[in-house]
Amino acid sequence: MPRGRCANDNHGRAVVTVRFCSTCGTVVNDRIPTSRCLLEKHARMRKAQSTYCVDCGERLAQASGRR
Ligand SMILES: [Zn+2]
Ligand SMILES: [Zn+2]
Repeated sequence: MPRGRCANDNHGRAVVTVRFCSTCGTVVNDRIPTSRCLLEKHARMRKAQSTYCVDCGERLAQASGRR
C-alpha cells in the first residue's frame, strides 16, 4: 500500500535504534518497546522536521507540502 519506497535509511540498516521510522511512521524495529513521550519532545522533533515520532509513532507534522 505505500507508494514507492521510503527514503529514510532506517529501513536499510542492520541495527536500528528506534522503533518507528521518522519519515513514514512504520515500525522498523519491533524489539524496541513503544514509549510515552512528552509534548515538548514532540515539539522538538517537529522542529527537526520529523514527520513521525520515532518512539511512539505518532504523527507530528500536519499535512505535508505546506511551507
Ligand atoms: Zn520509512
Ligand atoms: Zn512520541
